[in-house]
Amino acid sequence: MPIPRRGLLKSIAGAAGTLALAPRFTLADEQVARAMRGLPQPRIKDIRVIECQPEGVRLTVVKITTDQDGLYGYGCATFTQRADLVKPAVELYLRPFLLGKTTDRIEDIWQSCYDSSYWRNGPVLNNAISGVDQALWDIKGRQAGMPVYQLAGGKCREAVDTYAHASGDDFEDVVANAKQYLAQGFRNIRVQVGLPGMAGYGSSHSGNTSVKPLHDKPLFEPAYQMRRGLKLLEICRRELGDEVELLHDMHERLTPNEAVQFCKEAEQYRMFFLEDPLSPEDIDYFRQIRQNCATPIAMGELFNNPHEWQPLIAERLIDYIRCHLSQVGGFSSGRKIAILAEQFGVKTAWHGPGDVSPVGHMANVTLDIVSYNFGIQEYTPFNERTQAIFQGCPEMRDGYLWVSEKPGWGIEIDEKEAAKAPFKPSPLNGGWGEIRLRDGTVIKQ
Ligand code: MG
Repeated sequence: MPIPRRGLLKSIAGAAGTLALAPRFTLADEQVARAMRGLPQPRIKDIRVIECQPEGVRLTVVKITTDQDGLYGYGCATFTQRADLVKPAVELYLRPFLLGKTTDRIEDIWQSCYDSSYWRNGPVLNNAISGVDQALWDIKGRQAGMPVYQLAGGKCREAVDTYAHASGDDFEDVVANAKQYLAQGFRNIRVQVGLPGMAGYGSSHSGNTSVKPLHDKPLFEPAYQMRRGLKLLEICRRELGDEVELLHDMHERLTPNEAVQFCKEAEQYRMFFLEDPLSPEDIDYFRQIRQNCATPIAMGELFNNPHEWQPLIAERLIDYIRCHLSQVGGFSSGRKIAILAEQFGVKTAWHGPGDVSPVGHMANVTLDIVSYNFGIQEYTPFNERTQAIFQGCPEMRDGYLWVSEKPGWGIEIDEKEAAKAPFKPSPLNGGWGEIRLRDGTVIKQ
């Protein structure tokens, strides 16, 4: 005969009281009991932004506190190039909109925040929504006493395979750096080489160039990058052997036609993937890449709008979707993208560089662990200062990242430590400068 809910709770409490060593009821127990009694869910009491810069980039995290003591959550809202704009988007617009709402309706809150600005899908507003969205998932996990991955269906794998960044001013430096990572247990290596005297991506700009620019700004010439990039892949495949998975970030630097040529030429080096061969403005050229070669393609870190990723996935024009979770609106949006991609045989490779907070990295690893169509995860190490602020960062062992087993994201933020690492003053306030062709034309970077 079923025990009435109130009776069951009394029985549980009574049994616990008779055991001398019975554990105290935890926050999660209380939340479960509360839900079983049909009592109101926690309500949002406050929303504020925590900012810090423990390494080179500015990190932004949203903290939501509830009307229940000790119940709160964190969400990544890091948009390092325009960090100062995310804070007011959260505190001046989403905070008054959400105060007093219950925390349990994550999708409803996501949709209503998305709609409340009327104009939408911009990077600042998407990051603000992401901070709220991820904080609500954290709260739900803490309520349930479970890591978020359990709420999203549980593990599809034990840990998350990653790739490391090997770079250098010259080819030998890249190969040596890659060998160091291989010795540490990494199996997948992204390789980037400097372009002497030019502002190449992923390495320094040292050395001299014979190119004489008509300006004094950082210089870049796509044809030079194309030749040097292909040479790098040839050398890395030869020097590192056939068993290594090679990746390379083209960073939307080439012209569309050069990008098609590059992908076609790179096919012989059996890449794990080429990343961002085109800019979001040129995505129609992915059809030409597909028509010319079978080199695996990853794309998406600059995407904000569903109309950017939908055609690439639905037409199977890419192999890996690699959005930046906070730029697309958070964990909820990323989960939908992963599920959409699974239907079309496209895998995930979420953007995971230094300009993602550890909370955002844990959201990445959580999606990786629950998604059947997980492909690979970009890895960036956390320095000591970051780990002092964000306690519980994803653990790296033998090239694999491990998701937290603690409730929510499993990360606690020491705000006193965060206050010791404020945003550092910089001439462009954290924004990027310009890069120009030899004749002075500005380029995407
Ligand atoms: Mg990239």
